[in-house]
Amino acid sequence: MSWYTEQWSEDCKFSVGYEKHLHSEKSPFQQIDFYEGKEFGTFFTLDGLMMVNEKDEFIYHDMIVHPAFATNPDIKKVLVIGGGDGGTAREVLRYPGVEQVVLAEIDEQVFRLCQQYLPITAAGVEEDPRMELAFGDGLAYVQNAPDASFDLILVDSTDPVSVGEGLFTTAFYNECYRVLNDKGILINQHESPYFPEYAENMKKARTKIKKIFPVARVYQYHMPTYPSGHWLFGFASKSLDPLKDADADAWNAIGLQTKYYNTDLHYGAFALPSYVREALDSEE
Ligand code: SAM
Repeated sequence: MSWYTEQWSEDCKFSVGYEKHLHSEKSPFQQIDFYEGKEFGTFFTLDGLMMVNEKDEFIYHDMIVHPAFATNPDIKKVLVIGGGDGGTAREVLRYPGVEQVVLAEIDEQVFRLCQQYLPITAAGVEEDPRMELAFGDGLAYVQNAPDASFDLILVDSTDPVSVGEGLFTTAFYNECYRVLNDKGILINQHESPYFPEYAENMKKARTKIKKIFPVARVYQYHMPTYPSGHWLFGFASKSLDPLKDADADAWNAIGLQTKYYNTDLHYGAFALPSYVREALDSEE
């Protein structure tokens, strides 16, 4: 057995055993590697960082998608930025009321390789008639999109480095605000409060988003293979509040079976630990 190792902090590493290194290539945007192991099944990394694996992907994809739909069950037009593994689009396409899903992923190779090696997230996505694959930079996509053209934007991005940097800028958040309609919701990969490097990114994103969106909350989820395991999503909107406006009965009536998300956890996810609340509001 060989080991894949990710540096979580200066003095902390995380290793996963693997039997096969299935694929390795440098795309125009990043280094892409696929591995097959026992503990987390098939997984892939971008520039050496764990992205998605078969065993805990359900947690991330449940939590990036379902809280928004419990807050507005009538969502029809959805923009996924990043999300090249297909898992976020897969969850959105489970909603019969959804009419359009656009995937603005910068690196087509990520999606094509996930279709080959990670069908758990990518299978069936391209085939769905509601799906539009718009390979390219997510910032450029929103800059060219019409006003008020989406109900929901899901930013399923890498960290704010390299190609992902543009997705954590004030310019990007402003464009997202313009492209969302009056009931529009923005969900973004909001980093993590524990290790200092990620906590700095978390605070910076928070400061920028709070200046633009009247409703700006943060919620948490447990992600075993991400640094510290404690990760966050941002919930920003022009009007709808995930704690005041969520409609648990309407969401449960849709009848989706979900392995992580439920409408009780929905409220718990927004009840953040004190040190996280303090850190998020320390920038005010
Ligand atoms: N769950 C993962 C995480 O939290 O780190 C993210 C998964 S998803 C695979 C991230 C995707 O964002 C990658 O496929 C990457 O190519 C894409 N991406 C990075 N920067 C982008 C940009 N500027 N525009 C669109 N997609 C981008």
